[in-house]
Amino acid sequence: MYFRYSYLSKLNLSYPITYLNGISVQRATLLYTELGIKTCNDLLNFFPFRYIDKTAFYAIKDLQPNSSEVQIVGKITRVKSVAQKRGSRLVATFQDATGSMELVWFKGQKWIKDALKVNEPYVVYGKLNHYNGSFSIPHPELELVSEYKKKLQTKMQPVYPSTEKLTNSGVSNKLIRTYIQNLLKQFFDSITETLSPDIIDNFKLMSKRDALLNAHFPKSQENLAKAQNRLKFEELFFIQLQLLRKKLINKTKIKGFLFENVGAVFNEFYSTKLPFDLTNAQKRVIKEIRKDVASGAHMNRLLQGDVGSGKTIVALLTMLLAIDNGFQATIMAPTEILATQHYHAIAEMVEGMNIKVDLLTGSVRVKKRREIHANLEDGTLHILIGTHALLEDKVQFKNLGIAIIDEQHRFGVAQRSKLWKKNTVVPHILVMTATPIPRTLAMSVYGDLDISVIDELPPGRKEVKTVHRFDSNRLSVFKFMRDEIEKGRQVYIVYPLIKESEAMDYKDLMDGYESVSREFPPPKYQISIVHGQMKPADKEYEMQRFVKGETQIMVATTVIEVGVNVPNASVMIIESSERFGLSQLHQLRGRVGRGADQSYCILLSSYKLSEEGKTRLKTMVDTTDGFKIAEVDLKLRGPGNLMGTQQSGVLNLKIADVVKDTKILVAARNTAIDVLQEDSNLSKPENTNIKIAYVVLSKTSKIWSEIS
Ligand code: ADP
Ligand code: MG
Repeated sequence: MYFRYSYLSKLNLSYPITYLNGISVQRATLLYTELGIKTCNDLLNFFPFRYIDKTAFYAIKDLQPNSSEVQIVGKITRVKSVAQKRGSRLVATFQDATGSMELVWFKGQKWIKDALKVNEPYVVYGKLNHYNGSFSIPHPELELVSEYKKKLQTKMQPVYPSTEKLTNSGVSNKLIRTYIQNLLKQFFDSITETLSPDIIDNFKLMSKRDALLNAHFPKSQENLAKAQNRLKFEELFFIQLQLLRKKLINKTKIKGFLFENVGAVFNEFYSTKLPFDLTNAQKRVIKEIRKDVASGAHMNRLLQGDVGSGKTIVALLTMLLAIDNGFQATIMAPTEILATQHYHAIAEMVEGMNIKVDLLTGSVRVKKRREIHANLEDGTLHILIGTHALLEDKVQFKNLGIAIIDEQHRFGVAQRSKLWKKNTVVPHILVMTATPIPRTLAMSVYGDLDISVIDELPPGRKEVKTVHRFDSNRLSVFKFMRDEIEKGRQVYIVYPLIKESEAMDYKDLMDGYESVSREFPPPKYQISIVHGQMKPADKEYEMQRFVKGETQIMVATTVIEVGVNVPNASVMIIESSERFGLSQLHQLRGRVGRGADQSYCILLSSYKLSEEGKTRLKTMVDTTDGFKIAEVDLKLRGPGNLMGTQQSGVLNLKIADVVKDTKILVAARNTAIDVLQEDSNLSKPENTNIKIAYVVLSKTSKIWSEIS
């Protein structure tokens, strides 16, 4: 977009902070390495994390032993060093008309002593100590009243995030405050409005200038709230604008393969092979996909559906559409077990049809591999299912029409794009995930994708009953297992796997395996064991024994987390469940409850539980709704730990919070949609402010270039 700098007045907020009084190159470097602040604009958008309300001044005689932080006006009458066990402390006697108290320093005594002015009025602020009937403030904030009066007078004092290094180098909160205050004074007129008059009017937003001023130096609680609301709205609005524009450009500029025929293959399957009636949610999603692939535009769709919601059939039907239109299709899964399971499920469903399906994983032999490569290239292979092995350069499709990626959080973005760079024209992309993402987060992280949701489980599923038991109840858990096995059911026992201490995890698993073997001895009982250190072939062998019902118990680490489907397994026991994250627990529980029988999930833990651990286990006991669980997870861990957020810029929000500010987010997104609908290039005069801000953001911010 075209942009003229003459819009701005002489002073430009993109100047480095060294432009400001008192910021040396050395200090600027420190501010950059510690806080990422480089330009005046960075500093202006460096917001306080709390505000001290200094509305009141206290008289010394009114101080209470429980007062927390107080502000007092008085004079220092005497300064002395007092020897103590280790080193010394500096003590100043501080008086007002009503009484006397002490100010105390343990560090930096020399320069403080030199700086203190005796018998001049000071404003003192700090946390009050009470000892032996007298009051003191250790390391108080101190300012001469003459200086205090010169400052921007606000009732509330901002407190900025800091680091140890900054504090030790003399960059105090007070200093940062001064910098920002100077900045605001010098640059106030250079702050330009970034939103259109319409938007400001509609949402009754504070102007950009007032918002920045009040976010740093609020005149009142109300003004602070208004300022923050305005800045949050703006921040989220521009992220949404960026994501939505990207989506719009993808839609209009990137050509997609046209799957216009719903032909013989799809129809044959639908009328003669479909193993069950689709749920309404499945039907709706297939419609959404069909509309995409028949539009001539490129599909980039995220399919969310809880474990067991039936994503595989949607994937298959989508692939059949591709085949009907002369294209090949592929599914990439994160583990060999899951890829194999997809392969078996899909091969079985299309049996008797003229469709060739194959499986490519790391353990496929060279000869078979060559055959697959050849069949892919001459087009006789229709569907290829596999793991990362699909990404190898040797794997070349004749005409890949759609790539489906299952359980996407296991793949990096780079890997995914490698898959779709296998064609000159990018194939349609369908990303399937069983990790529900709260709607608002999805808007931010995947705001540029289309999203489909399967929010309905196939009929007849019974909710998994979940209980939490302490380790000491293990015997009754064993008894329960025995009863279930007696009824012909199968049981999973899962151990945590944490990479950092693989050896210890392995030991836990083996110890557990031994105690389970003692409790459930052969030949009556057979046990499978699967863990990460086994060869794929051995894993597969053990897995298959369990799938076929030859073993009643599966002892495993979290390798079984994803995708394994054994409908006869009705009990999931999770050892040390306090060590698992919520989404992992939810995934694991999804392994049971796949058949007609009542299923159970037993969360074992020690008595030592953190508050967060308690909340996690309680959430699991209370609900089976994946979206609810995801909301709790998001609240507990913040967006940084959820899938996909690293790439999204969501983490780098300066003032908004995707968890707490969902209302503002929705409003900002809707507003961005409205703006783009009317004016996709932001070329109308009423959108000039937006356009200028948009261009500046996309040029200057690192996050922005990463998003786009
Ligand atoms: P996920 O979404 O976890 O990948 P799957 O596709 O593996 O779920 O489906 C879970 C189970 O539910 C499978 O056994 C599948 O055959 C079955 N299933 C899927 N859709 C339906 C449906 N509409 N009616 C009945 N069973 C279904
Ligand atoms: Mg699946």
